[in-house]
Amino acid sequence: MPLIACPKCNSEDINGTPQADSRLLIHCEDCGHEWLRGEARRDPSRPAVQTIDSLHAGFPTTLDVRLDVRERVAMLVSEFQTTQHGPVPEVEDYRAKYQELFSREGCRTRTPTTCSSSP
Ligand SMILES: [Zn+2]
Repeated sequence: MPLIACPKCNSEDINGTPQADSRLLIHCEDCGHEWLRGEARRDPSRPAVQTIDSLHAGFPTTLDVRLDVRERVAMLVSEFQTTQHGPVPEVEDYRAKYQELFSREGCRTRTPTTCSSSP
């Protein structure tokens, strides 16, 4: 007792696969035609329009980086410091400047030109 038929071949031999947005992807077994049915559900935790506030709320942190990537980075840093280069004094100033720039607070006050225009 299918309730819907394929708009192309009128077959009622169809399959529905639920989608993440709560619509159904309908597949016609006879002709292979596919179409979406239903209303896309809007996820309230992810607004359709991203504002400065919604982006700010989801500001990524170090913890958003996969653990194995963080471990690899830490290994590369210590490798870099212990092999040919040793600690470079300017690095601390550089890091402090850009850490602030890319932080939750720094992000609010900076303009897109800050990176290229500041000395
Ligand atoms: Zn069909």
